[in-house]
Amino acid sequence: MVNTNLLISDAEKLGLSIENDKIKQFEKLAELLVEQNKTMNLTAITDPDGIAVKHFADSISVLNAAKFDEKARVLDVGTGAGFPGIPLLIMRPGLDLTMLDSTAKKLKYVASTVEELGLTANVLHTRAEEAGQSKEYRETFDIVCSRAVAALNVLCEYCLPFVKVGGVFVAMKAAKAQEEIEGAKAAIKLLGGKIIDEKSFTLSDGGERNLIIIKKISHVPPKYPRVSAQIAKKPL
Ligand code: SAM
Repeated sequence: MVNTNLLISDAEKLGLSIENDKIKQFEKLAELLVEQNKTMNLTAITDPDGIAVKHFADSISVLNAAKFDEKARVLDVGTGAGFPGIPLLIMRPGLDLTMLDSTAKKLKYVASTVEELGLTANVLHTRAEEAGQSKEYRETFDIVCSRAVAALNVLCEYCLPFVKVGGVFVAMKAAKAQEEIEGAKAAIKLLGGKIIDEKSFTLSDGGERNLIIIKKISHVPPKYPRVSAQIAKKPL
């Protein structure tokens, strides 16, 4: 169900080694994903190589973008079927991880999968822009990450409100990241962020990847995030 040799070699290229017990958890995760995908639409990638590279290796690459302290409070915005959240948790099981998505069905799968893997995480069913205005979540996370959710200018309005001042937001992007950065510069500044690094690499399938690392240097003005309709109508 997953090509573990490919996962191990792609992880090595990223400077990450995966212990045997974690490989077993990745195998189990692939099995659960493929099985559940038969009855609900979780992912279009179900081949063993694709799962190894496009889902697992790509997800754990986020470990190279920030210092994940053992119990860091981490949020994955728009986690979908649990990417990058679940692979990240396999690699760093002590994290205080929350996986947020607006689709309840996917989160149900994510919660039961985390439990089957013997891990612990929170799942949060809400829209990012709603939770970003809640005291419980606003500016409380050390690291926020997100993959394949929205264009960077919109994504920053979803994600930066969750990051503590001094914490980071890691946007996981494929090609054309530079264009997205250009289009998001004003939004990043307005929301109290500053791009501190960009890491580019190529996965073994030839796919280009970019990690855009944005540090939170000041508080987000209270009016952000705005309601969904405003974000859609007038993106920053
Ligand atoms: N991050 C996963 C991945 O890379 O495989 C899922 C990507 S999927 C294309 C986008 C996910 O983001 C969907 O599950 C969708 O429900 C969620 N999403 C989009 N906009 C959202 C929002 N404003 N708040 C919460 N979730 C959102």
